[in-house]
This record gives sequence, C-alpha cells and structure tokens, in this order.
Amino acid sequence: MSVKYFTNGNIMDVVNEKIYKGSIVVENGIITQVGEDVACPEGAEVIDFGGKTVSPGIFNCHTHICMSANPSDPRPTSDAQIAIQAIKACKEFVQSGVTFIRDVGGSNYVDIDIRDAARKGDFVAPEMVVSGKCICMTGGHGWSMGREADGVDDCRKAAREQLRAGADCIKVMATGGVFTKGVEPGSQQLNEDELRAAIEEGHKAGAKSCTHAQGMSGIKAALRAGIDSIEHGFYMDDWCFEWMKEHGTTFVPTLTAVYYTKFSEAGIPEFARKKVDAAYEDHLNTFRGAYKAGVNIALGTDAGTPNNYPNQTGFEMVLMEKAGMTKWDAIKAGTINSAKLVGVEKTHGTIEAGKKANFTVYTANPIEDMNNVMDCCMTVIGGEVVYKK
Ligand SMILES: [Zn+2]
Repeated sequence: MSVKYFTNGNIMDVVNEKIYKGSIVVENGIITQVGEDVACPEGAEVIDFGGKTVSPGIFNCHTHICMSANPSDPRPTSDAQIAIQAIKACKEFVQSGVTFIRDVGGSNYVDIDIRDAARKGDFVAPEMVVSGKCICMTGGHGWSMGREADGVDDCRKAAREQLRAGADCIKVMATGGVFTKGVEPGSQQLNEDELRAAIEEGHKAGAKSCTHAQGMSGIKAALRAGIDSIEHGFYMDDWCFEWMKEHGTTFVPTLTAVYYTKFSEAGIPEFARKKVDAAYEDHLNTFRGAYKAGVNIALGTDAGTPNNYPNQTGFEMVLMEKAGMTKWDAIKAGTINSAKLVGVEKTHGTIEAGKKANFTVYTANPIEDMNNVMDCCMTVIGGEVVYKK
C-alpha cells in the first residue's frame, strides 16, 4: 500500500469558505485524513506543500483536446496528428493545475482512445470524460467534426453510435455558433424532438448530455428536452433560470472563449468577431442573471478554440470574478460545482476524507487576488505529484 503525507499546506475548504494550515494523509490515491492536527503515519512518504495554498483539483468542463488553440497550426490530416495534439493539450492542462476535464466534441473518436490510454497511465493527463463526436444537424454548427443527424430516428442512432464507440457523455448542437461560417448563434438548429431523442438515449445508458446553445429558442428547446448542461448560453431569461434550478441543470458559460474571440488578434475570422461583438454584453448579463438566480455554474473554457489554450483554464475564474462572482464562488465553480456537473461529486471536488487526492497548489492565495489561480506550482492527481514547478 502507498501511504503519503502531504503537509504544510494552506488547505482550501470550499464548502465552508475557509483556509486552514493542515496536512493530508493519502492511501492508494484516496484521502484518509485531513485536518490541522493530522500526524504523519509511520513509513509514509512526506510531501511538503511549502506553505502554499491547496485547492481541490480544478476541472475544465468544456474542452476540445483534439483541436489546437494555435491559429497558425495546420489543420490535422491524420488521426496521429490529432492524437499528438491531444496529448500536448493534456500535458498543458496538468501543468496549469487542471486535474479533470470533460471533453465535448472530439474528432474521429480520437478523444476516446486518448481517454483510455490516459487511464492506463501511458502519458500525463487529467482525469477525463469524453463525448465522442458532437451531434449536429446537416450543415449545422460543428458539422465538419461532428456526426450530422436529421430527424428523430437519426439523432437517436447518432447518440447510440457515440455510446457504442465509448462516449461518457452526449454533446448535441441546439443552435448555431461563432466559428462555423454562415450559421447564426441565435438560431435554433436541432429541433426539440431531435434533441430529446439523443438526450434520452444518453440517459438510458447513464450518460449525461450537454448542449452548445447560444440563442434563447434553442436553449429553451434543449431545457424542455431534458439537457443536463447549457454551454455558452448567450441569451437566457428568468424562465430558463427557474427551469435550471428546478431540474438541476448546470450552466457552463465559457467566458474565456468569448473573451479570446473578442479581444485576441490572430486567427479570428471577421465573421466570428462580428458574432461575438453582437452577443458580448448580453452574455455577461445572462451570466450575472444565472448567478443571482442561484443556477449551478461550472467551469469550462472551450479550450482549443483560437488563442484559447489549455493553460488558460484558471482565467475562467478570473473572468467570473470580474463579472460579479465572489472569489469563493469562482473557486467553487471550478471544483465542487463542476464535480456535480460531471456526476463525480461523491469522489471529487473537495478536500475531504474518502475523496480522491486531486489537488491544485497555488503559489499564492487566490482569495487575496483571483489572478493567483493563473500560477499553479504543483498538481496532484490520485495522490501522485504529476507536476511541480
Ligand atoms: Zn466547444
């Protein structure tokens, strides 16, 4: 049995919003003791946090490991190139403190192979759940990498195909988006009955569903169809917030993606910039409305879209705070709220006995300055120190 003693940390208790000086005992990757007066078990390997701030491992619940964020990278022409890109993304996530990702829109099922290899320990990676191909209407947002499906039966089949390939979750496209030319973020794409068919197939297999949804009619259709999370969500009203609270639907605003599309230079096509400019303020207002209403908000960045690198995951918390969230609530979005969205809140998301030893260690305390989440000095996954600055 492997016994480790992580000591001299300022440990974040995200539930009670406090930080205390303490130690953590980890046996075979699981926390068995944590607190201010926890002694070192005999023979344990000692790891010193050096007085740094220890957060529960952070999540990124909206990633695209198969896509390069570097606009000057050529589009991959083989699965090997996609896999190399994905492994690079995994490494970058780990080096910036990300211990768990939910990848929502892979390419040619490479995401599923990557997940399986990562679980075997073939390379350094966060824990992950993946969606396989996104399900979209013919010519709809994401069609070039997705599974085009039209009509209820075909959407049902498309979802079953993703499950057969090994997907953990189902991604459906309820509206147009920013980076597909000629489709509008505000317009609905898959119909409510099509969405329902795909979502139902996922639920039957225990797989949650998420939807790219920016315009209000598509968002409402997805909510009525039983979706588990709204991604991006540019335009939502009180009806949406009430529904989400009542049904436990999560909002993943991906403020980072919108930020980089609006404010970065390289590789942003004019049509994408125009679409984001039109929605920018409304999106922030929707975020504030959802927060005020008490909707579960989780962290996702859409990493893989232009200039939006895996190592910018913490930036989502910075933007959330800028938009009006408290620092603690931003940390919760990245930890316990995200664990709930993925369905792993019993084993992840807080630093408590019985939970997996996933830690993100910050050089300085993010409750003093939110920007400190951008400086991770150690990442621990399952009790293993997988990154140390
Ligand atoms: Zn996305």
